[in-house]
Amino acid sequence: MPSVLLIEDDAESRRATAEQFREQNWDVIEAGDGDEGIQLAVRHRPDVILCDLLMPKINGFQVCRTVRQQVPRVKIVVFSGRDYGVDRASALEAGADDYLIKPMAWANLMETIDRIFPAAERAATETAVAPQFFPPSTRVKFWGVRGSIPVPGSSTVRYGGNTTCVEVRAEGEIIVLDAGSGIRPLGLALDKEFGERPIKLTLLITHSHWDHIQGLPFFLPAYQKKNQVRVLGYEGARAGLGAILAGQMETPFFPINLSEVPGNITIEELREMDFSIGKVQVQARFLNHPGVCVGYRLQTGTGSMAFLPDNEPFEMLKMQQAERDHISPDEARKFATAERQKLVEFLDRCDLLVIDTQYNDDEYQQHIGWGHGSLSSVVSLALDANVRKLILFHHDPNHDDATIDDMVEQARHLVLENGKPLEVEAAREGAEIWLGAK
Ligand SMILES: [Zn+2]
Ligand SMILES: [Zn+2]
Repeated sequence: MPSVLLIEDDAESRRATAEQFREQNWDVIEAGDGDEGIQLAVRHRPDVILCDLLMPKINGFQVCRTVRQQVPRVKIVVFSGRDYGVDRASALEAGADDYLIKPMAWANLMETIDRIFPAAERAATETAVAPQFFPPSTRVKFWGVRGSIPVPGSSTVRYGGNTTCVEVRAEGEIIVLDAGSGIRPLGLALDKEFGERPIKLTLLITHSHWDHIQGLPFFLPAYQKKNQVRVLGYEGARAGLGAILAGQMETPFFPINLSEVPGNITIEELREMDFSIGKVQVQARFLNHPGVCVGYRLQTGTGSMAFLPDNEPFEMLKMQQAERDHISPDEARKFATAERQKLVEFLDRCDLLVIDTQYNDDEYQQHIGWGHGSLSSVVSLALDANVRKLILFHHDPNHDDATIDDMVEQARHLVLENGKPLEVEAAREGAEIWLGAK
């Protein structure tokens, strides 16, 4: 069945067009603005896009340019109530295949689509298997961004309430970073995308605190025989990784034991700090967090990403502990500086840094020694390591959307004062970042 994506802010007119396409046996996807249109185009890769020229937020020219780069083969028809030659020329230049004037007669529209998307090409789509990856990029998608415990509700609806889970697609691999409650919706999305086809993925665990493993018993692909789930991580403080993951599914806690789960799950304890997953190179580094906890740096053909979901800077911690540990403030400072420098080197010129920013600076004063990061320490670390984009992560369960907005503002302020070109955002459930997309 051929598919069409309709991008138009006028809901009534969009629905009428959608209805006509459906009557002709088209698969129809609808978007109410340009932003949503781009996201749906990348996710669903439709055969044809019908896009309004003038919409709030992102206009049709920008939609064309972005979609043309990310989904090169799609056919795009831009339409507008304005019949100016300059608009038509600009739309074609932006990547549209044709430009139509509103109101559009259905016959005209079909004639245009038949011309740019001929029947032979249409027949080919019937048998083609949807590509699993969009090759020359690395896609990072956030499924759970919260620390400690899931916090659903109206005050966390924008950034999301699920605990840690980030999906990376690169070099033909699906790599999942941690299995907090966010892995549940990821499982549902993978099931929908792959259908009967087998799913092969690698789950990289940073450490076994609940907020990083609690979603695994609810990960649908683990319950399907056709799939292969390879779990990698390091030995925990008291037990091996396999024993810990099986432990949370033992009978007092969960109705199905890990050994009874039908998917092909293998659990491998890592020994080396450098390894690879297919063509993706991975470096691990132990972090300052209670128990055994690592951060990962992934290098793909199109960019690098570091994932440090739980980490506390040493600076204030060591100074506070100096007296107790019978070391001089100088020795404490020297140790903290050296450790920080090693982390700066680990993160050197990383394209994307996703890092524990659980506390603002005031809150951190009350939580020194709890194993989590603070706003200004994270920003200065990213600046010193010449990171390109910083993502505040592992949001405190007590932080509502407005608090996280404030933290982003504060972080951007610190960056402005420094003058280096560092982008800052807070991780948001559902958000995607593309590395190396041309
Ligand atoms: Zn955590
Ligand atoms: Zn933790």
